[in-house]
Amino acid sequence: MSQIASCPLASDIVKQVQEGADPSQFVDEALQRAKDDENNAIIRIYEESAQAALANVKERIGNGDQLPLAGVPLLIKDNLCYKDHLTTSCSKILEGFVAPYTATAVQKLIDAGAIVIGHTNMDEFAMGSSNETSVNGNVKNPHDPERIPGGSSGGSAASAASGIVPLALGSDTGGSIRQPASLCGCVGFKPTYGHVSRYGLMAFASSLDQIGPFSQSVSDAALCTDVMSGHDPLDSSSSSQQHDATFEAVLAANPDVLKGKKIGYIAEHQDQLTGDIASTFDRCKQLVQEAGAELVPVSLPHEKYAVAVYYIIATGEASSNLSRYDGIHYGFRDDEFEDLTDIYYKTRGEGFGAEVKRRIMLGTYVLSHGYYDAYYKQAMRVRKLMCNDFEAAFKQCDVIMDLVSPSTAFKHGERMDDPIQMYLSDIFTIAANLAGIPAISVPGGKDSSGLPIGIHFQSPQWSEKSLLSTAAACEQLFQA
Ligand code: GLN
Repeated sequence: MSQIASCPLASDIVKQVQEGADPSQFVDEALQRAKDDENNAIIRIYEESAQAALANVKERIGNGDQLPLAGVPLLIKDNLCYKDHLTTSCSKILEGFVAPYTATAVQKLIDAGAIVIGHTNMDEFAMGSSNETSVNGNVKNPHDPERIPGGSSGGSAASAASGIVPLALGSDTGGSIRQPASLCGCVGFKPTYGHVSRYGLMAFASSLDQIGPFSQSVSDAALCTDVMSGHDPLDSSSSSQQHDATFEAVLAANPDVLKGKKIGYIAEHQDQLTGDIASTFDRCKQLVQEAGAELVPVSLPHEKYAVAVYYIIATGEASSNLSRYDGIHYGFRDDEFEDLTDIYYKTRGEGFGAEVKRRIMLGTYVLSHGYYDAYYKQAMRVRKLMCNDFEAAFKQCDVIMDLVSPSTAFKHGERMDDPIQMYLSDIFTIAANLAGIPAISVPGGKDSSGLPIGIHFQSPQWSEKSLLSTAAACEQLFQA
């Protein structure tokens, strides 16, 4: 049943192309694998524009350009604008919407020689943890078609895990890169908030959203992030600091990196772990300790409020961001209407799915006059306490090692009628978004049914090099 395969790593493709290999073979093979996909992970394949981009890359190689991603096939989540291509956030309300420009992160990858071969399936407007709210239907987990791939970037995760492409982009507002990476068994990285420009990413919760890669190795995630990062005048929240490239260090990382490292584990989580998840985590702890790391228990006392705080802040921001979908500016509009108000009612009533409407209503409520202080402002205060907790924890350790998800992939339909259960899927990932810190999911093992278990690494803001080197060293240990 399992459709797990590997494809050449992005770094290997680049090396081969630099040594004279024809990049067409990598792109053509990826296009074929995308066509053969059985998981509904890819919603549109761009054969024609991929071939045109390939011709352009070949010309540039011919001119002697050193392209850091020469010929690397790439899939992008359907909330990332790609000029002259449909981009819909898997929502009916964006039916027919053709992006007038390309997201900065995507453009940087294209400029570096990557070839976009399609858009991937996702939860509508990135709201979900199971990829079951997409207007394009459910995505299947490549390890078991009856199970969800995680969400909201389920299509990108399934594509990277099943070896369709070496790199796929996702967005992470509360866990949407790391949780599906964990459940599908690939690497998923959310950089520090502000590391990658959000320009051209359809906004969900602007103070939390961050673009990041899915890959089959930590070093490929580093390579992709190095290319995407940097200040963008079109996104004022993107950092203007110069950041060290991480790829070379991460590629060279081996378990020796762990010698003398202080790896924290979250004391409060330990009695929440059960069964195969608990034993996998114990094994991983033992492996890092054997490699010479010091394990340090750390406390995040306010993290227990993370889900509650998130569903106030994220829904508040979403209600504002999604007000732009009014039936006038973008995509879908109901044909029959009496006046302007009627256009809004009908378009938004029919265009948004149930989960998105639930969030807009929640968000409108928490921001409304009389409730703002009690909900939004209070949530912002608790968010600050959570940032302080991380600051204190990172005085005791370099990196925190934890689990990404409290369970392995669940079955389709299992949590759709119970939003609270669904929201709790992200109980371990949300805090990193609230604190704006970088965090990555690395495959750590499997449960007794063969379903992947991701290990979560988190570190202080802008410490990508240390985080990714540690994660790369652990990736080798856990795979052994
Ligand atoms: N699952 C979370 C939610 O539904 C996180 C989504 C995300 O990171 N985009 O809000």
